[in-house]
Formats: sequence, C-alpha cells, structure tokens
Amino acid sequence: MPEQNITWPVEIEQYERKIYDLKQILEISKGLSSTLDYNTLIDSILLTLMGQMQLLKAGIFLRKGVGFDNFTLHRNYKGFEIDHTTEYEIISLSETVRFIAREFRCFTLEDLIKGNLADSSFSLLKMLDPGLIVPLVSKGELNGIMILGERIKKVEFSPSEMDYVLQIASLAGIAIHNARLYDMATTDMMTKLKIHHFFQATLNEIFEKSLVTKKPLSLIMADIDHFKDFNDRYGHITGDSVLKMVAQVLMENIRPSDTAARYGGEEFAVIMPKTEITEALIAAERIRESIANVKLKNGDDELGITISIGISQLDPESDRVKEDLISRTDRALYVSKKNGRNRVSFL
Ligand code: GH3
Ligand code: MG
Ligand code: MG
Repeated sequence: MPEQNITWPVEIEQYERKIYDLKQILEISKGLSSTLDYNTLIDSILLTLMGQMQLLKAGIFLRKGVGFDNFTLHRNYKGFEIDHTTEYEIISLSETVRFIAREFRCFTLEDLIKGNLADSSFSLLKMLDPGLIVPLVSKGELNGIMILGERIKKVEFSPSEMDYVLQIASLAGIAIHNARLYDMATTDMMTKLKIHHFFQATLNEIFEKSLVTKKPLSLIMADIDHFKDFNDRYGHITGDSVLKMVAQVLMENIRPSDTAARYGGEEFAVIMPKTEITEALIAAERIRESIANVKLKNGDDELGITISIGISQLDPESDRVKEDLISRTDRALYVSKKNGRNRVSFL
C-alpha cells in the first residue's frame, strides 16, 4: 500500500476537525455579536464555554458597571457553590491581575502559583480552584477574567482545547465591550435608569410579544410631587439627590425582568412583563411607601418627598399600540395627582 494512503485519512480527519471547530467558532461569533443585552450575553458565553469544554462550572469576573474598577463574580457564574453573603472580588490593581493581563493566554492555577502571587485576588482564585483562567480583552484592555472549573470527564485541557478557549475568549471580550457601550448609551448616567428612547423601544417589543403570547403586561408611571417647589426651596443639587434616591428605591423593588426608566425630568416608568395589575399594585405601593419614608439629610434638616403613581395593564381587546397603554397609565397618574398626590391609582 503506498505510504500516502496511510497518512491521508489522518490528515483529512485533522482538517475535518479544524473545519468543524471553525464552523463552531463562526456560530459562537454570530451568537455573541448579536447579543447586546448584558445578562443574556454573559449567560450565553458561560453556556457556550460549558458546552464546548464540557464543564460543570464556569464564571466570569466582570466590572459591575461604569465607575467600577474591580472585577466581581456577582451573578456571572454557573456551577460554583457561592456564599452569597460575601463579594467575590478581584482587585484590578493587584499583582494577580497584572500577571494575568500581561499575556493573552490560558493560565492554569500552577502558572499563578509559579508567579509567586500572594494577594487576596490570588487567594480567591485559588479557593475557586479553576482548571483554566483566561483574560478577556478588548482594544488591548482587560475587561474581565474567565474561569473554567471542573470538567465532566476529569481530563486536563489539551493545547488545542486551550487554543479553542482563547478563540472563544477573544470573541467574548469584544462582545462584552460592545454590550457595555450599548448599556452606557442607553442608561441615564444620573439615575442609572434606562433612557426614554430605550423605554419606548423595549415597551414596543414587550407589548407586541405580550399580545402574541397572551401574557399580562403592566406599566407603572410615577412623578415626584411638587418637585418644582422642592428645587426652588433646596436647590437643584439636592433635587438631583432626590432623583437618585427615587431611582434606587425603584430598582430595589422590581424584578430583573422589569425595565425601569427615567421617562422625563422627574418622571419614571417601569415595564413589568408577565405581571398582572394586582402584582404591579403591590410593587407600586411598596415603592410609594418606601420613598415617603426616606429622610434626606440636608444640613441639620431632614427632608422628605413623595411620589404619585399610575398603573395600568395591557388590554388585548382595546389596546392597539403601546401608546394606548401609556396614555391610560398616564391618566391613572393624573388621577393620583388630582386626588391629593402620594398615592397609587389604576385604570
Ligand atoms: P406635581 O406634583 O404636579 O408633579 O408638581 P411638580 O412641581 O413636580 O411638577 P412640574 O412638572 O411642574 O415640575 C417638575 C420639576 O422637576 C421642574 C424641574 O425643575 C424639576 N426637574 C426636572 N428634571 C430635573 C433634574 O434633572 N434635576 C432637578 N433637580 N430637577 C429637575
Ligand atoms: Mg412632571
Ligand atoms: Mg412632579
């Protein structure tokens, strides 16, 4: 038998494997680059990694948002048993981060041990016991650290698998960067709520979806009471701190699937998918009460503020466009104002 007959099939097999891997990478690339929603993206990176590398555990240390320097595990992990009372934080200026950021490659825990690292970030990584640690980079900057945990079959990562992980990591780094930019562009920097345009686009999408799936959809609109007087009396800067407080209370009282937006200057809106008006009312009442109970320090004084709220639920019989729902909710808000403010009304 001629020699090439023996080597040929092996080569073909190698090329087939390579083509298969490239096709996979192309699919992963399409998936990741079409996702701008941050949480969906992180989920999809983790699931991709776990599926491709047959992992039981994976996680990504990321910055929580604009203005955060350090990397936290927060909700960005699967499989790890995490103590929810502690913050798993990697310090961006630490020796460990400098070590990892130096080179775009896969690190094992042994690599880090050989680097004689002794800071808290290293201890944290060591405790999580990852099989691989991979920097996420975009435009030459570190924007996350991926950790690959235990595998289904207890095997080491081969060099070609590490190569493959690096390809996923380079796509993930770019996708995370883009999602961050999108998040920034659609977020009101003062209140950290979504901006008006994002609210309209999101409501449009959820409105149509709710009609098709026949799921409930509730909308909350809120407006600060006598805010003009408040500003006139205490100044705009104190007024701004009220806006931030209201936004924070809103965020604390809604679900991750809800969208809270700064609708206008001192007006807010919350889109609540899959939510009946009765549930929305409970949330709204909690929000109203919490805000009314906040005491803002202003020198020796303690200031208070109230908000008025309107609520409505999508009516599939009569609502044709999202504006129908918005205007009914707005009218409910007007009822709250007319009846004395600091109250919740629904229509
Ligand atoms: P009502 O109870 O009827 O809502 O009375 P109001 O005074 O709150 O209503 P109005 O709409 O007349 O006033 C809204 C005020 O909100 C006017 C404006 O000075 C203030 N405002 C809007 N955006 C901002 C902001 O970004 N910062 C501050 N400090 N104030 C703002
Ligand atoms: Mg107003
Ligand atoms: Mg107002």
